[in-house]
Amino acid sequence: MHPLVPYLLGEKHPGGKRLTNVQKCIRTCDIDEVGDDTHLIFFEMLGNWSLGDYFKQESVPMSFDFLTKYLKIPVTRLAVTVFGGDGTLPADTQTGRLWHSLGLAHEQIFYCGREDNWWGPAGQTGPCGPDTEIFYDTGSPKCGPDCGPACGCGKYVEIWNNVFLEYNQEADGSLSDLKQKNIDTGMGLERVLTIINGKTNVYETELFFPVMKKLDEISGELGKTIPEKDRRILCEHTRAVTFILGDPKKISPSNTEQGYILRRLIRRMIRLLKKSGLDANYLTELSEIIINQYQNVYPELGENRSFILEQLQKEYVLFSKTLDSGLKKAVKYLSAAGNGGVLSGELAFKLYDTYGFPIEFTSELAAEYGCSVDLDDFRQKFEEHQNRSRQGAAGKFAGGLADHSEQTARLHTATHLLNGALRRVLGSGVSQRGSNITSERLRFDFSFDRKLTAEELEQVCAIVNEATAAKLNVICEEMTPEEAYRSGAVGVFSEKYDNMVKVYTIPGYSREICGGPHAKNTGELGSFRILKEEASSAGVRRIRAVIKE
Ligand code: ATP
Ligand code: MG
Repeated sequence: MHPLVPYLLGEKHPGGKRLTNVQKCIRTCDIDEVGDDTHLIFFEMLGNWSLGDYFKQESVPMSFDFLTKYLKIPVTRLAVTVFGGDGTLPADTQTGRLWHSLGLAHEQIFYCGREDNWWGPAGQTGPCGPDTEIFYDTGSPKCGPDCGPACGCGKYVEIWNNVFLEYNQEADGSLSDLKQKNIDTGMGLERVLTIINGKTNVYETELFFPVMKKLDEISGELGKTIPEKDRRILCEHTRAVTFILGDPKKISPSNTEQGYILRRLIRRMIRLLKKSGLDANYLTELSEIIINQYQNVYPELGENRSFILEQLQKEYVLFSKTLDSGLKKAVKYLSAAGNGGVLSGELAFKLYDTYGFPIEFTSELAAEYGCSVDLDDFRQKFEEHQNRSRQGAAGKFAGGLADHSEQTARLHTATHLLNGALRRVLGSGVSQRGSNITSERLRFDFSFDRKLTAEELEQVCAIVNEATAAKLNVICEEMTPEEAYRSGAVGVFSEKYDNMVKVYTIPGYSREICGGPHAKNTGELGSFRILKEEASSAGVRRIRAVIKE
């Protein structure tokens, strides 16, 4: 939603006032749900927006028409929730009445609180409002007298969310009316397809069928069967990891941030295959099915085919080295703990540190032995370890990162100019992946998947030197992260920002969220020279550069 915020606030969108799209979504928070009938980590969300154009009275009937006339879902199978009001705001009876007038019985309309029928803002402040959620009633009996869409028993499956963005949340939490009223809806493609195909779970749709079939072939040949839940998880994760690896951002398995999520998913797959007595080397074959199936719609999968397969193979080789011995150790610990026992944080950390077992992976394994893991203890061990390595690193870079001398401030400013120049020459797909500055040189890592040509390097240098020759003031402003994004500032994608951030602007060349310190004027920088351009890791390039007076 971040990129849309300015348009929800009234700025003109080049695509007009009515937009639709299909978005790739990753919801890692749903990982424990995967294996049920409807929750995926990766799914496609169909969206439509009104930017100050149609509102509730048009949006609700349009949704109704689409579901009942185009998709032919019987009205009796629908149920909706509507905002029931809270201490400050009244119930959204207008929407309730709209649904009723369209043919939904009162028993199909449920009023719920803020926790169920409110969306946003996307950050601390910004557009937000009540919503109405549309559910498919599977027809299974109510789990109890209070059973309704908000209950998680599975009788009702949420298929579409219709958000009425009419308020702006201020920094103090209060709401004011937005200049224009907007609509934002999201519909889960896999869930809707399941329903219109008359199936009971997403894995029975054509979207998953080819991978499911392959899994059955692989296990069938060896006379094995994969438990149903594992089969679903394998199938889901195949698609999720293929899409994550296929993204132009070029994320690869690692121990931090998105790379860690990816690693967790792949390692879980490797173990589930092994658990059923199958060779985890099938990972790449499974992934290829998804690439072939989706590449016409998502060309990045085809374009990144070799990257996807290489990364999977690499992670397989890496994890295979420690998986067996780690499993042996884990089984020993868990057997000693016994049914109902607790695995200490210390041992869980050992499995993580020595054998590369993600903590969630150890928890899952422990559960199979009727054990649990002392997660608080694990977290403590993990943090102790991190502090130790941080202290080590700080020692190593003393005089480097820790040195806020004028020269490092200048190199810092040069890094922003370099980032801006790279984006201008190579395209705005380039994003920062790392930066390290000593008083002698800067080192900058960024996403890009090939060696830069001599001409490109020259162009980049020329842009930076043009900016230094222009003697531009470096402007620093403080604002909220939302305001920063809205104003076009770039930031490190994975960084968690505070309430207020500093935005450094070098007019015409760079606008970045950054903590500083920086030179006051680009004239202080002197001439900029690139020493080296090389690969840093898969899909990431590294530049070393200096400035000389
Ligand atoms: P649920 O309560 O079922 O988890 P949600 O409230 O998290 O759904 P929204 O955040 O409103 O869902 O997302 C919009 C739509 O995206 C939902 O109506 C649903 O169709 C789809 N959706 C949400 N989460 C998933 C998921 N994990 N897998 C597949 N589709 C999903
Ligand atoms: Mg959810």
